[in-house]
Amino acid sequence: MSNDPTSMTGPGAAPAAAPSDFIRDIIAEDIATNKHGGKVVTRFPPEPNGYLHIGHAKSICLNFGIAAENSGARCHLRFDDTNPAREDVEYVDSIQADVQWLGFNWGDHKYYASDYFEQLYEYAILLIKAGKAYVCDQTPEEFKRDRGTPTIPGTPSPWRDRTVDENLDIFARMRAGEFPDGARTLRAKIDMSSPNIHLRDPGLYRIRHVEHHRTGAAWCIYPIYDYAHCISDAIEGITHSICTLEFEVHRPLYDWILLQLPFTDRPRQIEFARLNLGYTVMSKRKLLQLVEENLVSGWNDPRMPTIAGLRRRGFTPESIRQFCKRIGVTKYNGLTDIAVLEYAVREDLNKHAWRVMGVLRPIRVEITNYPVGQVEMLQAVNNPEDPSAGSREVPFSRHIYIEQDDFMEVPAKKFFRLSPGGEVRLRYAYIMKCEQVIKDEAGNIVELKCTVDLDSKSGGATAGRKIKGTIHWVSAPHACSAEVRLYDRLFTVPEPDGDASGKDFKQFLNSNSLEVLSHAKLEQSLAEAVPGRPYQFERVGYFCVDAWDSSPGEPKFNRTIGLKDAWAKATP
Ligand code: ATP
Ligand code: MG
Repeated sequence: MSNDPTSMTGPGAAPAAAPSDFIRDIIAEDIATNKHGGKVVTRFPPEPNGYLHIGHAKSICLNFGIAAENSGARCHLRFDDTNPAREDVEYVDSIQADVQWLGFNWGDHKYYASDYFEQLYEYAILLIKAGKAYVCDQTPEEFKRDRGTPTIPGTPSPWRDRTVDENLDIFARMRAGEFPDGARTLRAKIDMSSPNIHLRDPGLYRIRHVEHHRTGAAWCIYPIYDYAHCISDAIEGITHSICTLEFEVHRPLYDWILLQLPFTDRPRQIEFARLNLGYTVMSKRKLLQLVEENLVSGWNDPRMPTIAGLRRRGFTPESIRQFCKRIGVTKYNGLTDIAVLEYAVREDLNKHAWRVMGVLRPIRVEITNYPVGQVEMLQAVNNPEDPSAGSREVPFSRHIYIEQDDFMEVPAKKFFRLSPGGEVRLRYAYIMKCEQVIKDEAGNIVELKCTVDLDSKSGGATAGRKIKGTIHWVSAPHACSAEVRLYDRLFTVPEPDGDASGKDFKQFLNSNSLEVLSHAKLEQSLAEAVPGRPYQFERVGYFCVDAWDSSPGEPKFNRTIGLKDAWAKATP
């Protein structure tokens, strides 16, 4: 495996201490006691019925992380593709791309549960022969009705005592396609009065005359998740099968099935709390609804909590891994504040982003005492956090743009930026004074006439003059005009899908989650910007070039995240 734990902190950084949690403790103990012959094999088992989201990232970092931290250990990527109706190769491809982008590698260990269909069928025959499984002709409604409740025992199916021969015969005919969907199921014969409902003769196989994206029309019976999952784990020699808490009640069934079959080294299922993140939804069914109802532009819409969306938004793999490390692994379900994720990306981008100037909502400025036609190239450091990023030249001229927000005609108290008669420092350049405000007939500001103190540039006689505010600017004749998209949280409430009012989650969509600015003026160097490099527009936020909609020489920018947590201020 090429998983290198030191790479998780980026090139040159000291290896971070390996995380520690109850699952890693169990594994360390198992290694120490030579359980599973000292082997550690984990797996990440997505169902290819949607794109991966940030919750999956938690599971990926855990499973692949454990493999990376233990020498000789490995993590399998297994597509849990036993439900053909909802699955698609588009999802298989996107899942692989996303796991790799996060920085993990399955090596030669990519598997599909559908590759085990024949073995799963053979094991079902073993169960039937052992009197541990039977064909049941009940309808799904009868099955539900007779299952009982946690306090009322179930009622045995009238088909429970079919003979082995009869079961073998009907099961073979189920496979051969003799019966319509839902006509029969194969059920485990366990205990209809067990306090655990999952042990009350659960279904193992159902009839579905649906083609599968890999096995085509070869099968019309498909194994149920609980049956396929434990056996797939055992076939692959998984030692620790890590899943989310809702499977805790399924664990006795997981163990029961494997105990009936000829496996010697059985995997152990361990549950942890899934990630729930504020201001978003995470169920693939709900994410699919947003996509299908065009409430977002696709699975990779930069507002989606999907890995593809976060990547397009400008999140880095490092920031997502750091986030997963920070939230840790526990047994307690809770809601993680989205600010934790936002903090992680800000922290990472602060280290790597190049500082540039970009004016999102421009006002034109003419500097009347600056020579017509003169252009000066000013030196700007690309990244003060990283000297190796070097510096670049930023042109300055008589016409510039500044941010509308940085000018107030009637300045509020403590407004230290530009106002009539007032002075402000232009980043990397001169101190500028506003002399006159030019308006159109409707009273809108069209231009500011300003002057600069020509000695106030770095190295000049008045360079040290104390000025309270510094603002960013862009030389007008050199500016790159670009579309800039400002993204915000997709929902207006922390728990859109668990709201006490019982409203549909879509009612909480944030109608201001996307603002498109078509006439932003960015510094010249950004005309050639390409996807992949993060930028900090000074004083504004972190941005990246949209990899989807940009064309060469015509970049479109996505705001990854603002410089500060705007929501923290907004909440009283
Ligand atoms: P969804 O509810 O979004 O459909 P799922 O659990 O059905 O998710 P799978 O494709 O089966 O999706 O998930 C693959 C793996 O990722 C599973 O092992 C699952 O436990 C884990 N996983 C899914 N969602 C989360 C989450 N929110 N937090 C942590 N792990 C998760
Ligand atoms: Mg699932």
